[in-house]
Amino acid sequence: MTSELSNCQECGRLFIVKHSDKLCLECCTEQQIKVSAIRQYLRDHPGQTAVEMAEAMDMSLHFILGLIRQGILVAS
Ligand SMILES: [Zn+2]
Repeated sequence: MTSELSNCQECGRLFIVKHSDKLCLECCTEQQIKVSAIRQYLRDHPGQTAVEMAEAMDMSLHFILGLIRQGILVAS
């Protein structure tokens, strides 16, 4: 198995590609925590726009839009 190095899209740190080729393990874990929080929020508050979500979750709009673009979150 070859170890491939990549720069984390979130923090820019160089990391060995394992779970995701875009994020280091730390940011990947953080993203998963955020994503599950957002999914929980959407269950309770359906029909939110990305802007409303970002404000309600205290996350950057850039981050939310990135999740939607990657297909991790589905925009309503
Ligand atoms: Zn990172």
